[in-house]
Amino acid sequence: MKILVPVKRVVDYNVKVRVKSDQTGVELSGVKMAMNPFDEIAVEEAVRLKEKGVVTEIIAVSVGITASQETIRTALAMGADRGILVETEASPEPLAVAKILKALADREQPGLIILGKQAIDDDMNATGQMLAALLGWPQGTFASKVDIEDGTATVKREVDGGLETVALTMPAIITADLRLNEPRYASLPNIMKARKKPIDVVKPADLGVDPAPRLSTLKVVEPPKRQAGKKVKSVAELVDKLRNEAKVI
Ligand code: AMP
Repeated sequence: MKILVPVKRVVDYNVKVRVKSDQTGVELSGVKMAMNPFDEIAVEEAVRLKEKGVVTEIIAVSVGITASQETIRTALAMGADRGILVETEASPEPLAVAKILKALADREQPGLIILGKQAIDDDMNATGQMLAALLGWPQGTFASKVDIEDGTATVKREVDGGLETVALTMPAIITADLRLNEPRYASLPNIMKARKKPIDVVKPADLGVDPAPRLSTLKVVEPPKRQAGKKVKSVAELVDKLRNEAKVI
């Protein structure tokens, strides 16, 4: 069984993002970029399934600018077998990415597609769900445990107030949550080996998809600064302030 893992290049999670002065987005020039952390978890899960003998080939896909090849290389160094870069000029919206992934799924016929639950740059949490709808496949989102047996993927999902277990008939879509696993670091020999693994480069038009945006960003601003806290001398004073100043009780 083949498995497809979409990996997005985003601002590294350690970077404190700054809004551009013209409020059109966040500053990307000179900023450290990395694989979306939930996608690292998705790649790790795919590699573990391959190590168990459930999966025969892992294909890492990224949709984005040429530099997204670096993100694919990271996935290859973690254990993916080959990569596909769908090259675009800008970072496309979830619907365009989902259409591109559908076209690749039609071509590659994977048994499973594992995505991250969300990309940490724009927090859309939409691509996996849209892809499941476009393909007409079952979906197990926010997965914290995955077991594959006899053509069925059993997925434990993190839902409000507990864990829900669903059984998906494959082919299926899974989106990875934080507790699914702890991704490995790529070893130096594996980073070297990854350089020789193939990456195909295609354009959205080759897949019959128009990635033009449907949404327009009106403006991006910094969150309001947090105000300094106040010290109170007694519970009575606290209750008074909550009631009469904050008006929350
Ligand atoms: P989102 O719906 O944008 O929050 O993204 C959810 C997941 O979809 C990500 O964790 C990735 O697995 C996948 N994804 C989104 N955008 C891209 C992209 N440009 N290239 C590859 N995968 C993507």
